[in-house]
Amino acid sequence: MTEIPLQHHIAPSGEQITVRDLASCPPPERWQDWVEYDARAWPRKVEKRYEIIPTICFNCEAACGLLAYVDKETSRVKKFEGNPYHPGSRGRNCAKGPATINQVDDPERILYPLKRTGKRGEGKWERTTWDEVLETFARKIRAAIIEDRHDEVMYHVGRPGHDGYMERVLGAWGIDGHNSHTNVCSSSARFGYQVWCGADRPSPDHANARFILLISSHLETGHYFNPQAQRIIEGKMKGAKLAVMDPRLSNTASMADYWLPTWPGSETAVLLAMARIILVEKLYNCEYLCRWVNWQEYMAAEHPNKPQTFDCYIELLIDLYAEFTPAFAAQESGLSEETIIDIARQVGHAGTAFAAHTWRAATAGNLGGWQVSRALWFLSVLTGSIGTPGGTAPNTWNKFVPAPFIKPSPSEVWNELLFPPEYPLANYEMSILLPYFLCEGRGKLAAYFTRVYNPVWTNPDGTRWIEMLTNEQQVELHAALTPVWSETAWYADYVLPMGVGSERHDLMSQETHAGRWIGFRQPVLRVYKERNGEHVQYTYQANPGEVWEEDEFWIELSWRIDPDGSLGIRKYFESPYRPGQKLTIEEYYRWIFENSVPGLPQAAAKEHLSPLEYMRKYGAFEIPQEQAPVFTLNERELKPADLEGAQIDELSGKIIRNDTTIGMMVDGKAYEGFPTPSRKLEFYSPTLKEWGWPEYAIPSYIRSHVHHAAMNHDKSEYLLIPTFRLPTLIHTRSGNAKWLYEISNANPVWIHPTDAERIGVQTGDLVRVTTEIGYYVNRAWITDGIRPGIVACSHHLGRWRLDTSQGTDRWSSALVELGKTQDGIWRMRQLQGTLPFESADPDSSRIFWREGGVHQNLTFPVHPDPVSGMHCWHQKVTVEPAYPEDSYGDVYVDTNKAYKVYKDWLAMTRPQTHRPDSLRRPLWMIRPYRPAASAFKKQDS
Ligand code: SF4
Repeated sequence: MTEIPLQHHIAPSGEQITVRDLASCPPPERWQDWVEYDARAWPRKVEKRYEIIPTICFNCEAACGLLAYVDKETSRVKKFEGNPYHPGSRGRNCAKGPATINQVDDPERILYPLKRTGKRGEGKWERTTWDEVLETFARKIRAAIIEDRHDEVMYHVGRPGHDGYMERVLGAWGIDGHNSHTNVCSSSARFGYQVWCGADRPSPDHANARFILLISSHLETGHYFNPQAQRIIEGKMKGAKLAVMDPRLSNTASMADYWLPTWPGSETAVLLAMARIILVEKLYNCEYLCRWVNWQEYMAAEHPNKPQTFDCYIELLIDLYAEFTPAFAAQESGLSEETIIDIARQVGHAGTAFAAHTWRAATAGNLGGWQVSRALWFLSVLTGSIGTPGGTAPNTWNKFVPAPFIKPSPSEVWNELLFPPEYPLANYEMSILLPYFLCEGRGKLAAYFTRVYNPVWTNPDGTRWIEMLTNEQQVELHAALTPVWSETAWYADYVLPMGVGSERHDLMSQETHAGRWIGFRQPVLRVYKERNGEHVQYTYQANPGEVWEEDEFWIELSWRIDPDGSLGIRKYFESPYRPGQKLTIEEYYRWIFENSVPGLPQAAAKEHLSPLEYMRKYGAFEIPQEQAPVFTLNERELKPADLEGAQIDELSGKIIRNDTTIGMMVDGKAYEGFPTPSRKLEFYSPTLKEWGWPEYAIPSYIRSHVHHAAMNHDKSEYLLIPTFRLPTLIHTRSGNAKWLYEISNANPVWIHPTDAERIGVQTGDLVRVTTEIGYYVNRAWITDGIRPGIVACSHHLGRWRLDTSQGTDRWSSALVELGKTQDGIWRMRQLQGTLPFESADPDSSRIFWREGGVHQNLTFPVHPDPVSGMHCWHQKVTVEPAYPEDSYGDVYVDTNKAYKVYKDWLAMTRPQTHRPDSLRRPLWMIRPYRPAASAFKKQDS
């Protein structure tokens, strides 16, 4: 075989890129006219000419770079490949990136704005105009704002795909109306990190680590899959060892040096045992702990009579965690004592090059899951590997969100539908409880936007969402902004088609590695037309049909809500270049690139481009490290100007200015520290103590609601893991990607052979999985890749539609019958599986899969963690052979039982409603949309 020679070229960031064959990676100077032979014409050599335009993948939040190949003959996008100039993905994508072309060409896609003509959920639609949509919503929102019903307008987002844009819009409207999907996703993991360091995501430098510990592989097979997976392998190739704690043998676990199939929820016990070993064996980073942990605060508050020394603190730690012996951790987790000791030592010896990550899975599955991320960060703190090369940084050190030209003041409103009194510490909005709150009369919604969000299908207790969305007293007007049909869009008043990754503008940055970059998503056909001299006023004029983009939609809507500027909204949507004129989307990004991204104007000037032209050309920019350093940022020294008028608290060393702690004196120097109340890493959290949870003031172990003691295998009881996904699928947006469904089209229940024998089933048999509130019927898959006692089912399949030919893509959905059979009981039965169908795409008649998966989330009640607010996904279930009357895909739900479970979990909360300071929530804790400090205080006080 002939070896293709290596070729080198230099990326704009200065990084050397090495590729084997430049023909598969065209150099940018040829992107405007790239020639390839048409593969379909083979063996004839027919040339095809393309213009290559970069954009950003929208199929997960990793924001990898894509290159769109626009066919010059047809003016259509032909394919997507990786963008080698993107610092996060570096030219490599997962299967979901190139599958963007399926989404563009999907014959099932919604091409025009639709308005319902029948009852909600009846499935009757007519085409409408963007003008009518804008007028209808502008009227409704304007009335709510004028009549001081600021909590009646809500934007509920599933996949954001941008940084900061919507927060600015909602702030301009003066409402507290940002709702998210995050409490079914990651709010527990985030909470554990936030309590420690004030940032709520970790950013591991896998590529330079000596030891990598992942609590589940979920992130590496889903979120950030590709950029982090690349760096994990890089680290391994340089000699790093990889350990994966996951009861399921995931793709990542199969590549690991150590697969640690812990019993779900026991991870904290294992991590605390490891912490104790590191302490006892003196493997900790003494200097780091002494300087950067709030141990003095802990000693003064909890042990005032003991010597206030660091040595005494360490002794106390060993004592505090005395119960976390390897034997105890082994008993809780099912791992061996030797393995726990071995991993603990390797973590300790890795020192500042210990990289660790957790996101969903254990944190998202269990009651008290936030203690998992807190205990994991404890290991990073003990090894002094916070923000070091090869360590793990707070995400804010590796993410860059540039400021827009004008930012509204925070609103003075607090919306209790989002942050109710029962959950003062909830890390994100209590999204899953919205239907309950509306049902209980806590409020109503005048205008509700779901944006790339499918709660009917995604959230637990989805039938309650159907009940909410069909109740016109609770939700007066609902628009689903979505690139694809969904089970939720079916119940909307308006279905508004929004662009996929090549049809919209967005700006994104993610913590993919130790570096900072921004990626520019752009509507490639609009860019193509404009480069070729065509004027395009709105992106929908260039996209297929009238598919629009949210950025422009919000500008137009805001302008119409406040046409004369009297509400103070319009000014945020006026051009920074043409005073008083309506902002264009090009101007919005042009200003950011010219003014807010360090190093970009200079890099552009070197190529004789404007900053906007540079971003349109390359689609991404890595900020030079000298302008945006990424390591040990807590040790940034405060500038003399920062210290003007500041006081230093003698006892704690806090530097306080205008009642705000802005830094910390350490060894005689004024450092910025961490954004926590103490400006240190908070091993001890006075916040948790003051806000009702003193027993959790330090990292501690909470037994999960699915602890193994609660399972009786003789009664066929198992722990169900519903939180994993196949890496080839997107939450609820891959139904329109035929290549992805060709790869993954079934979600059987994983069962260990010993359990299968006990239950009496074999691979392919139907099983009935019964939860607290209902059951579903699916096929069994017998595999050694799951721990005994645990069953698992991927949550990315089992799409349904209620109409023969519309509602959810036919590539992926089953036609079902769904309804209440008696008061409070919902049943779903599949009438027809996935079948071939005729369309403009001949592949639709070649569909070979017949069972497109089974939906399970409808059968889960809500389990909001009383501290973090996260839905605890894991379920105690019974698994039995299917009953004679059962069919594949059956779903049964008793909403009366679901309501009881909601009440039971609500009763676990500790509302803090009578605080002397009247605060609803600690002022220092982050919120995705943050109202003014005054709104944190209750009005009636
Ligand atoms: S990892 Fe995410 S952003 Fe990257 S190519 Fe895959 S789906 Fe797209």
